[in-house]
Amino acid sequence: MRIRRLKLSGFKSFVEPAELRIEPGLTGVVGPNGCGKSNLLEAIRWVMGESSPKSMRGGGMEDVIFAGTSTRPPRSFAEVVLSGETAPIDGAREELEVVRRIERGAGSAYRVNGRDVRAKDVALIFADAATGAHSPALVSQGKIAAVIAAKPTERRAMLEEAAGIAGLHVRRKDAEQKLRATEANLARLEDIMAGLD
Ligand code: ATP
Repeated sequence: MRIRRLKLSGFKSFVEPAELRIEPGLTGVVGPNGCGKSNLLEAIRWVMGESSPKSMRGGGMEDVIFAGTSTRPPRSFAEVVLSGETAPIDGAREELEVVRRIERGAGSAYRVNGRDVRAKDVALIFADAATGAHSPALVSQGKIAAVIAAKPTERRAMLEEAAGIAGLHVRRKDAEQKLRATEANLARLEDIMAGLD
C-alpha cells in the first residue's frame, strides 16, 4: 500500500482529531520527548491489524484509547484511518481507505472503503511483509539506535532484508546441499562402474 493520509481521533495522546499528509519519499517525525512520535507509528501499525501488547507498548487492547489527563476526561473510543492506494493490480492502483475503531467494552472493528470487514480481511491486505505492520519501511526510534549499534554482519542482514534478498541465502544453502548429495552419488556411481570393468 502507498500511504497518503493518516487520521487519528482519541488514539493515545491524540485526543483531538488530527490529520497528517504523507508525501511520497522518506517521511521523518521529529519533536520533543513525549510529544507522540512513537504513538503515530503505533497508530499505523494498529490500523494494519497489530494488537500484540509487545509491539504496541500498552498492556491491554483498550490502552490505545485516550486515557484522560488531570484536565481532560478519558475518551470512549479511538479511531485511526489510513488512506492511500493499493499496490498495482494489473498495472492500476486503487484507492484504499482502512479504518479501525475501538470502543470501551465493545472491542475493535474494521472498515475498508466504507464496508465492514473482518480482521482477517485487513490482515490479507497487509499480508505482504513489505507493506504490513512489520514492514522495514516503518522505522522506530529504537530501530535507528539498533542500526547504529549493530555489528557489520547484523547491519548486512538488515540491508538484505530491506532489499528482499534474505530468502535467497536459504535457497542457496538448499541448492548447495543438493549439489553435495549429487556429487556423492556420482562418486559412488563411478566406484560401482569401476568395479564392473
Ligand atoms: P519519546 O521521544 O520520549 O519516546 P515520543 O514523542 O515518541 O516520546 P510517545 O511515546 O509517542 O512520544 O508519546 C508518549 C505520550 O503519549 C506520553 O505523554 C503518554 O502519556 C501519552 N499516552 C500514551 N498512551 C496514552 C493514552 N492511552 N492516553 C493518553 N495519553 C497517552
